[in-house]
Amino acid sequence: MAIISCKECLGRVSDTAATCPHCGHAAKPVGWDRFVARRKRATPWMLGVMTMCAAAIVAIISLGP
Ligand SMILES: [Zn+2]
Repeated sequence: MAIISCKECLGRVSDTAATCPHCGHAAKPVGWDRFVARRKRATPWMLGVMTMCAAAIVAIISLGP
């Protein structure tokens, strides 16, 4: 945990706080941490799906009509 400065009022805000306790300005975009966590988790899964799709497309093209 660290103390950061609010971009709006320059007050001291905990980096774990979602909003500034002084002015209510959102320290981070809402849900940003969750979005990043989801992206990190989703990336290997997405790569797997994309690889499967690419393999399927190549197989369809190589098989031909
Ligand atoms: Zn503030």
